[in-house]
This record gives sequence, C-alpha cells and structure tokens, in this order.
Amino acid sequence: ADPLEKPPICPACRAPLCGDLVASACNRVYHRKCLAEIAESGSECPQCGELHAASSSLDLFGISFGDALDPGAAALAVKIAQVETEEGGGDSEAGGTKAESLRAAAALLAMKNNVGERKHHLQEQRALIQAERERCAKQDAKLEAAQKLRATRDSDVSQTHKANQQAEIQRKSLLAKLDAVRQQADVSEYWEKLKQDRETEAKQHLLILVNMAHSPAVITAEVSNFQQHTRESLQRMRKDGGIYTQRLQAARRQKAE
Ligand SMILES: [Zn+2]
Ligand SMILES: [Zn+2]
Repeated sequence: ADPLEKPPICPACRAPLCGDLVASACNRVYHRKCLAEIAESGSECPQCGELHAASSSLDLFGISFGDALDPGAAALAVKIAQVETEEGGGDSEAGGTKAESLRAAAALLAMKNNVGERKHHLQEQRALIQAERERCAKQDAKLEAAQKLRATRDSDVSQTHKANQQAEIQRKSLLAKLDAVRQQADVSEYWEKLKQDRETEAKQHLLILVNMAHSPAVITAEVSNFQQHTRESLQRMRKDGGIYTQRLQAARRQKAE
C-alpha cells in the first residue's frame, strides 16, 4: 500500500501520529512521550532494536503536526525520516536531494497552515470589529434618542416658562385694576367724610387703607363696612334733626300763643 494514502502511526503505541512529535536517533517519528517512555524504561527501540536516549531525539518543530486531520504533513515527516535513513547507505546524493525537496514541501505545508491560522485570526478580528461597530451604532442611536428627548423637554420647559410669564403679566394687570378700583373707593370715601366735616375719621380711614394696601379683598370689605356705617349715621342724624326741628316749631308755637 502507498504510505501517503494512509495515516502514519507511532512505532511505539501504534496510534496515528499527531500533536507533539519527535524523530528518534534512528530517524523514526514517535510521539514525544512514547519515545521518552522507551528511553526512560531502558527498552530497545521497536524499529531498530537499539537503545535511544531521550536527549538524542530531534524536535519536529516547524512542520505543523498540530492538526490530526492533516495527514499530509505527518506523512511527509515519515518520508523525510525514511529518506534520511536511506541516506546512510547507497546513493547519498540523490537521497539528500529527495530529503531536501521533502523538507521544502513540509515547510510549504507549514506555511500554508500558518497562513490558514492567520486568516482565521483575521476573520475573528473582523468579527470583533463588526460587533464593536454594531455596539457603537447602538450607542449612537441611544444618544440621539436621549438628545431628542432632551430637546423636547427643553421646549416643554420653555413653553411652560412663557405661559408662566404670561400668567404673571395677567396677574399684575389684574392687581393694577384692583388697585385702581380700591383707590377710587378710597378717594370717594375720603371725600365723603371730608364733605361731612369728619376730617379725623377720614384720615384714620385713609391710614387703615394704606396699611392694608396689599390685601385688596380686605380693603373692599372695609370700605363697604365703612360706607354702611356712614349711611346709618347719616340716617340717624337726619332723624334726630327732624325731631329737633319738630320740638323747635312746637316751642315757637307755644311762645307765639
Ligand atoms: Zn506513540
Ligand atoms: Zn531506533
């Protein structure tokens, strides 16, 4: 059977070659731990019958054996080992050339693997960048929504402020009107009292009104009370006046008789 067609196996454990591999002093490829076990136990090499020291093995770095599903690289390694064994006898120049081209092929495979790994790494990086971009886009959208909301709120606040200002203007205007009405009442009341020669009362009334200048409702009630009181006094005085007039007329009549 063609050795390139089936996966190469470890001469010690008979399992397919993969992972951490070494070449023995007799140029066979083993799992590193398998050759180490043989060397430590003092057993003979199952391929050449000699004793091998663990330190005499050759690390097979630089050729990718990492992927167990890549039989090409492992098979090449076996080929290299076989050709190098053959080099010892017969046609050493041809064997050397063959081993060299096989090494070059192995190096190419390693590079291919390396390129594959880098591509994979690049894809992962791209996926990360894409995810980051999406995250940023979401953040931007959130920020935009927040800004819109803030703008709306600012506009609401500004409208409320305007409404408050208008209400304040209306309130001031109403207060001014009330003040005008109150002043009219004050003036007429004061005038009434002056007309009745009640200067002291008129002055007191004015003083009270001035002291309550910031309570228009109280002033209005006060003015109304005062007007009522004035009317009542006036009526009483007229009644008294009528009685005196009658008495005076009666006295005059008596005197005349
Ligand atoms: Zn093994
Ligand atoms: Zn051996």
